[in-house]
Amino acid sequence: MAEVHNVIIVGGGPAGLTAAIYAARANLAPVVVEGYAAGGQLMITADVENYPGFPDGVQGPELMQMFRGQAERFGAKIITSDVNRVDLSSRPFGVWTDLGELRAHAIIISTGASARWLGLDSETRLRGFGVSACATCDGFFFRDREVVVVGGGDTAMEEALFLARIASKVTVVHRRDEFRASRIMAERVINHPNIAVRWNAEVAGIVGDGVTEGIELRDTVTGALDTIPTAAVFVAIGHVPNTNLLTGQIDLDPSGYVITDGTRTNVEGVFACGDVQDSVYRQAVTAAGSGCMAAIDAERWLDATLHHAAAAEQHV
Ligand code: NDP
Repeated sequence: MAEVHNVIIVGGGPAGLTAAIYAARANLAPVVVEGYAAGGQLMITADVENYPGFPDGVQGPELMQMFRGQAERFGAKIITSDVNRVDLSSRPFGVWTDLGELRAHAIIISTGASARWLGLDSETRLRGFGVSACATCDGFFFRDREVVVVGGGDTAMEEALFLARIASKVTVVHRRDEFRASRIMAERVINHPNIAVRWNAEVAGIVGDGVTEGIELRDTVTGALDTIPTAAVFVAIGHVPNTNLLTGQIDLDPSGYVITDGTRTNVEGVFACGDVQDSVYRQAVTAAGSGCMAAIDAERWLDATLHHAAAAEQHV
């Protein structure tokens, strides 16, 4: 069997790297498997203005680099590879990466969440050619063009307000006649001179031969179809937790989020932190906070369990 580590942290966003800082400082020599898309959603966030301690804001990738450097400074080992499989039924637990098998007494899951897509063929075909789930990444390409944002939550409002500074016009397409977003964000959108709202409309297809040229909408009341021209469609309809690896091994809620009590999962020795177990707050600072909690919980659990195991051995 491969060398057995104290703790493996699966996922290298704010939650996983904070867990790594704490676990490393507790002398647990943690191993972080960060995935090829390392750094999580902050890597596709330009300006982070709400992370405390940075009164002038900080770039998302720069902030993640600082987290990473801080974890490494205290001895966390960071492996860059996707995790292909985990086994939470055997002990020590198993984690398989492209570089081989890893074993640990405790696991911290911090695999985060990814943008949800509409699931249309035309959306998949034109992704990267005007179809995007990240205004801060791709909005710049549509300077002075007309763009569409799909969704009615806070993410859609944020994307629309961001794009309104760049595009000549933003149309928010929402499937109902009221937004789900917080009132302050919704009002900013509704009152913005550069933003129009198309209520009661669902996306029937995205139109374009090679690049996005328009969006076909179906009126949810009348069923009527029409196409409006647009250079880009920003899909902002929420997120899905990255829990495919865990299906059948750990309790997930109906939306796929890991169910936690604090950071404890239903499997002893497996902890979860960050967006993979939080559909509500989804902030870098809350993810980091729960990463700290997971490391402390794992440390206490390891201490109690390994202590117990050593005591039992002495009795034999
Ligand atoms: P939400 O789940 O809140 O909203 C998703 C939106 O997309 C809803 O309006 C929903 O419509 C719509 N939608 C979902 N599926 C489809 C579909 N297949 N076709 C069309 N529309 C669809 O997700 P968000 O990402 O917006 O927000 C998640 C959480 O993060 C929230 O708690 C939010 O408050 C928070 N957040 C906070 C921010 C802030 O405070 N600055 C910024 C961003 C997020 P319907 O309403 O009909 O269900």
